[in-house]
Amino acid sequence: MKNVKNNRQRQINDIVSIVKLSSLLLIGIIFCKEFAENGSLILYSTHSYYTLSVLFVPLLILILIYCGWSFSTKNSYEDIPNKIEISLFIVLFSLVTFICGVNQSEYKLLFLFIIITTTIQSGMKQGFIVSGVSSIIVLSMDILMQPNAVINVNFENDLILAGVFILTAWPLGFYVKVEGEHIKKLEELINVDGLTELYNHRYFYDTLLEKIKIGKRDDKPVSMIFIDIDYFKQYNDTHGHQKGDYILKKIGGIIKSAVRKDDIAARYGGEEFAIVLPNTDEGQAMDIAEKLRKEIEVTYFEGEENQPGGKITASIGVSIYPDKAKNDIELIKSADDALYRAKFFNKNRVEAYTSILDEIKKNIDEKDIELVASIKTLISVINAKDKYTYGHIERVVVYSRMMVEKLKLNEKDSKILIYGAYMHDIGKINISKDILLKKMKLTDLEWEELKQHPENGVEIIKSVESLQDIIPLILSHHERYDGNGYPNNLKGEEIPYLARVLTVIDSFDAMTSNRPYNNRKTYEEGILEIEQCIGTQFDPEIARIFIEVIKSNEGVSFYESIKMNEMKI
Ligand code: GH3
Ligand code: MG
Ligand code: MG
Repeated sequence: MKNVKNNRQRQINDIVSIVKLSSLLLIGIIFCKEFAENGSLILYSTHSYYTLSVLFVPLLILILIYCGWSFSTKNSYEDIPNKIEISLFIVLFSLVTFICGVNQSEYKLLFLFIIITTTIQSGMKQGFIVSGVSSIIVLSMDILMQPNAVINVNFENDLILAGVFILTAWPLGFYVKVEGEHIKKLEELINVDGLTELYNHRYFYDTLLEKIKIGKRDDKPVSMIFIDIDYFKQYNDTHGHQKGDYILKKIGGIIKSAVRKDDIAARYGGEEFAIVLPNTDEGQAMDIAEKLRKEIEVTYFEGEENQPGGKITASIGVSIYPDKAKNDIELIKSADDALYRAKFFNKNRVEAYTSILDEIKKNIDEKDIELVASIKTLISVINAKDKYTYGHIERVVVYSRMMVEKLKLNEKDSKILIYGAYMHDIGKINISKDILLKKMKLTDLEWEELKQHPENGVEIIKSVESLQDIIPLILSHHERYDGNGYPNNLKGEEIPYLARVLTVIDSFDAMTSNRPYNNRKTYEEGILEIEQCIGTQFDPEIARIFIEVIKSNEGVSFYESIKMNEMKI
């Protein structure tokens, strides 16, 4: 729509420019004609400089007042050249009228050119001003040229001309105004989603780009909120799409009333909504998102009793430009990532975007940044290939953070464990989706391929100098304490300490989550399995500490939250 509008404005400007140029041509012809008829310009022969200044000083003052007034009006700075141009045309037409007979000139009608073009280009208000100024000029010439006349015929005639000026500007201006309103209405219709009355996807993209540009220019943050209704497919399946649409409409209304005047709330997709919040930092965006989540949770929706938890809820992701995303695409991607995390951690919650790799980026050498960025891409490729891996990585990172606390690791080791947890499966990028998601027992060949992933992972990160300390974790997270692990059959304390920690965490999550190739164990069964493998698969001391961690309040509540979340594989 913006393009259509710009195109229309360009076409109008083109035609107006042609008219203005033609009027200049006419003036040229008039000058030539005057010169040919009188031998010299009448200006020098008929009128004294005194008359000239008497006429043109008020004109100049009038134009100065007009310029001063219009320039001091808000937002008028952009059309300063336009206003100067109008003023110049008025001066030029006054000059022609003056030269060619002043009050008796036949060329007073020339003012219609500038009245019409200004009204078309700038609207009724400007049109009125120009017609008013033109009338004053014409009438003052009449009065100044015959100050003592009892009946000033020219003045009387020119009163009618002034009426023509005003009556030209009025309907024309009115038409321009009505057309403008009509276009605005169409614009609204074209930008708004019919069902929810929020903005639509296309408008959202256009505006996001614009808001980010402004944010960059003014050095202000732009926040993004992504909202997805939980278990909406289930609602549709139970109550039908019509009722589903009614929910979308109602949630659209809630979103509309929760956002501020400058925020742009849009229906991003089927049952997904997005809000762009200019000049808003993460804290403010999180507050708005949380308010929205609560509002949706407490609102009654027909038939919500049959939904999980007995309620219609939504999950929300938040991200910020420029802190967490460099451009519009990254902003959308990171808000979507955050939404994915919110879904993952049990839905009906708000999550801000965090990326361990972004954290790593802050601590590494300039030269490695690109490599870490490619590792980030690799991880997102794995996540896209296999939703299970995403959840697994997230959970292993959460358990690792708990172990960092419990083991009181120093800062360096804490980072190694957490970064290692994040990247331990990166070697799986080369393994086909069929093997990763295979439900049946793997063949020997497939098993051999899967066992390559620690070494493949090392291959990927080995050239990043700042990630060297993580290599032992990636390489050895499948070694066993009794020496029967892979790839190097390391035994006991030959296995790096942090790799032994990661092995217990990785195995516990593998046992207790929905893996494609084995049955999920319960929380208690998982703990029992770890106990049974103490000394064979796991380092005894680390395994006992890990059991303490998962039995702690924090461990239990985290486990509860992931258990409630039905992972979709
Ligand atoms: P999750 O909690 O993970 O978000 O699960 P979900 O069932 O909501 O899954 P997803 O977000 O993938 O939702 C997609 C569903 O949304 C599919 C379809 O039933 C529903 N949906 C999408 N667009 C519309 C629409 O315009 N009207 C209606 N009634 N339903 C829609
Ligand atoms: Mg969805
Ligand atoms: Mg959904």
